[in-house]
Amino acid sequence: MMLILADLPDHALTTRLLEIRKHERSLLVELLGLLAELDRRRTVLALGFSSLFSFCTDRLGLTKASAFRRTTAARLLARFPVVAEYLADGRLNLTTLVELRDVLDEAHATEILDRAAGRTEDQVKVLVAGLRPQPAPPDLLRKLPNQRNDSSGSGPERLPGSTAHQAKELPLPTSPLAPAAPTPPAAAAQPAPAPARPSAGPAARLQPITPERHVLRVTVGATFVADLEAVRQALSHKLPGAGLEEVLHECLRITLARVESRRRGAGKKTSAKAPRPGSRYVPAAVRHEVWTRDGGQCAFVGITGRRCTSRHQLELHHVDPFARGGRPITANLTLRCRAHNRHEAEQDFGLEHIARKVAARYIGEGVTGAPAGGPK
Ligand SMILES: [Zn+2]
Repeated sequence: MMLILADLPDHALTTRLLEIRKHERSLLVELLGLLAELDRRRTVLALGFSSLFSFCTDRLGLTKASAFRRTTAARLLARFPVVAEYLADGRLNLTTLVELRDVLDEAHATEILDRAAGRTEDQVKVLVAGLRPQPAPPDLLRKLPNQRNDSSGSGPERLPGSTAHQAKELPLPTSPLAPAAPTPPAAAAQPAPAPARPSAGPAARLQPITPERHVLRVTVGATFVADLEAVRQALSHKLPGAGLEEVLHECLRITLARVESRRRGAGKKTSAKAPRPGSRYVPAAVRHEVWTRDGGQCAFVGITGRRCTSRHQLELHHVDPFARGGRPITANLTLRCRAHNRHEAEQDFGLEHIARKVAARYIGEGVTGAPAGGPK
């Protein structure tokens, strides 16, 4: 292969490259179309993935940044089919399209796509900024806390520039490719934030600097700084001389312990009285057992045997649906992420719906004069 390539004349090399690039673009459009259809059918849920994003990273092996761009572009393609033409002929690429995610709307799609056509990523960012001004440029990140610190007169030491650190779950990529953690597609419909609120400023960034250390940057408001200082004072006995990371980490640990305890149902005395018949109430001890048994993870298993890995927004799912008399006992309960809980509820509803229709038809045919409605 190397020999053949080495023998190719220049024009043949470039011609072939251009051919492949064109092919690559049409493959991208096809891939996005497939993702969009998968998304529409919600197939990934049945396969045991909590989202299209999770399918892209875990099954397709994409990086988070790559998965974000493709899932976002797939949804844009579904909303604005004309996008396919721009991607296919190269007027837009994946990056410039995704930059447009918050400014495209049905009324102005073509106009905006035309304005972005052929532009670089930086130029498209400028275009987007003009269409939807963003508050607080990243440069202000370091200044904000210092201003607060000066005005509050809260001691000369610490709370330096690094104050703008906040542990926050970042839903999305930390790749240097991503200038800011992109908002999840679901947030695309939100109105533009008011420029007057600096706390709604640039999205938080979590960036690894070594395998062990990360830099976390976030814009914080005045009340955050005030609360931070109050917590620091309150913890000064327990954590004398603690740095900002230790203080925030302590907050995280306390929050985590409380949330876990609530989720598990631990910490409450087991109620001696049994739940009233027909009550949805799940005793704390039962929740604890279910949580422990399922390992604090969605227990949905897809049709190919894959178990969902989500630990996000876990809910209790009734195997035998509550609406059909399923009881709130450990054997009938299991953990589900929100996406899978809804997925199964829809399936249960669908099955029940079908069963009711079948039963109604049977009665109508077999029993003369049977009242409409049939069994529940
Ligand atoms: Zn799940």
